[in-house]
Amino acid sequence: MIQQLESQPEWDICIIGGGATGLGTALDAASRGLKTILFEQYDFAKGTSSKSTKLVHGGVRYLQQGNIRLVMEALKERGQLLKNAPHLVHNQQFIVPNYKWWEKPFYGIGLKIYDWMAGKLGLGPSVLLSKEETLSLVPTLDTEGLTGGVVYHDGQFDDARLAISIAQTAVQHSAVVLNYFPVTGLLKMQQKVCGVWVKDSLTGKGWEVKSKVVINATGVFTDTVMKMDDPKHESIISPSQGIHLVVDKEFLPGDTAIMVPRTDDGRVLFAVPWHNKVVLGTTDTPVKRISAEPIPFEEEINFVLTHIGRYLTKDPQRSDVKSMFAGLRPLVKGKSKKTAALARDHLVTIADSGMITITGGKWTTYRKMAEDVVNIAIEKAGLEKRNCITADMKLAGHDKPVIPAEIKSLTIGELTTFIQKSIAEEMCMTVEDFLSRRTRQLLLDAIVAMEKAPAVAAIMSKEMDKDQTWIIEQINNFNAIAKNYLPD
Ligand SMILES: Cc1cc2nc3c(=O)[nH]c(=O)nc-3n(C[C@H](O)[C@H](O)[C@H](O)COP(=O)(O)OP(=O)(O)OC[C@H]3O[C@@H](n4cnc5c(N)ncnc54)[C@H](O)[C@@H]3O)c2cc1C
Repeated sequence: MIQQLESQPEWDICIIGGGATGLGTALDAASRGLKTILFEQYDFAKGTSSKSTKLVHGGVRYLQQGNIRLVMEALKERGQLLKNAPHLVHNQQFIVPNYKWWEKPFYGIGLKIYDWMAGKLGLGPSVLLSKEETLSLVPTLDTEGLTGGVVYHDGQFDDARLAISIAQTAVQHSAVVLNYFPVTGLLKMQQKVCGVWVKDSLTGKGWEVKSKVVINATGVFTDTVMKMDDPKHESIISPSQGIHLVVDKEFLPGDTAIMVPRTDDGRVLFAVPWHNKVVLGTTDTPVKRISAEPIPFEEEINFVLTHIGRYLTKDPQRSDVKSMFAGLRPLVKGKSKKTAALARDHLVTIADSGMITITGGKWTTYRKMAEDVVNIAIEKAGLEKRNCITADMKLAGHDKPVIPAEIKSLTIGELTTFIQKSIAEEMCMTVEDFLSRRTRQLLLDAIVAMEKAPAVAAIMSKEMDKDQTWIIEQINNFNAIAKNYLPD
């Protein structure tokens, strides 16, 4: 990748940011035959794109808000993603438990509309259930006042693994994608952006990279890059933190997830089976500070535990939390001060300098966002027009076994094989890359992840020809991050 970076005098499209949006854009552009390069300052999907609720969804909540166009678009993308990445996305059954008399008809009708909107790409009909039928699907639901439930379907996925799969597909179409390559500045000629300055943060070496178009796809960091372009730029992002707690399957045995459409403060709450554990969340907390490793607030942990406890026979306690993670939503500022009401839609802007910024949206719609921004980039830079071909494109790895999410019970031989694979084929550079995003061990059980870190570091050091100092540094860095995945 670095050799290609050095040998190409000018690129058609240069993308800053290797989350869902940037990687999707790289794939879209490269598959249209454009010379495409992408830079990610940390690891691919290290930010928000590995900390989602893991749902490929139309958004029942947006239906409640009456945002029909957004839901229709997302449902279409949901259906296509299930076909294009069957190795990472699957059909997930949800139940909305009913405790009030009006809930069954209200959610029943709403979810029928949701089915109808999905049309041929629907994942299964929504069904009204009696109390007994509801309990047979989710035996740990609190029975007091339970009158029944409504079943519906959405998609569930592994976000970080999907990001890697999109990156690999982009590379198959000749894109160059580099992780640990922060963009440190913008190249300008006559006030127009014509490339970027990048640095390899693992070696310290820097490059000047020329490109006909530069696309800023940096999520919650959008304003930082916009300020590189125009120091007087006024922020357009209003970051909002969402956290998840991970607990054992005993709290939600079986395959059905729970969806609470409205908690008493008006939020949506999920309990979803994921890789043999259960993910509980989420929250919507406005934050001022942007960090690559945001940390859940005490109030958020208490909120999730208290509210989910109201729906389960056994209330999860802090000591039951195996891992917790926080992500920052790149919400586009509106007039309202409440983040839950800000636009979840995506926004594309073109600066006077020509730099294009894409922000907002959600994981589910990454492909459509990419299509839109590349269309605009082609128009803007007068590049050769070719149609987008990603709608029916199978993603890399769809026909191969996936690296397991948990490594607890792997033998050293198996672990070595998977580490070799993720270094050779997935640009895994650090112990944290492997334990957090190539596998999902850190998000599933932080203690197991810390226990495994020394073995992973030792194997990686052999593969990458690193010394003892590197091993110690890697373990220390990993532990410093991992301790924030457990409540005190
Ligand atoms: C709690 C939570 C739950 C969510 N759940 C869902 C869900 O279930 N389903 C769904 O569809 N969506 C969900 N979303 C939304 C979805 O996760 C985001 O919309 C999506 O991940 C945003 O991707 P992105 O690429 O725009 O941003 P990011 O993932 O933040 O990627 C931006 C990247 O840019 C990089 N970057 C920044 N500055 C530079 C620089 N100078 N040089 C190089 N790289 C740089 C960053 O390191 C980062 O990796 C959720 C979001 C949150 C917060």
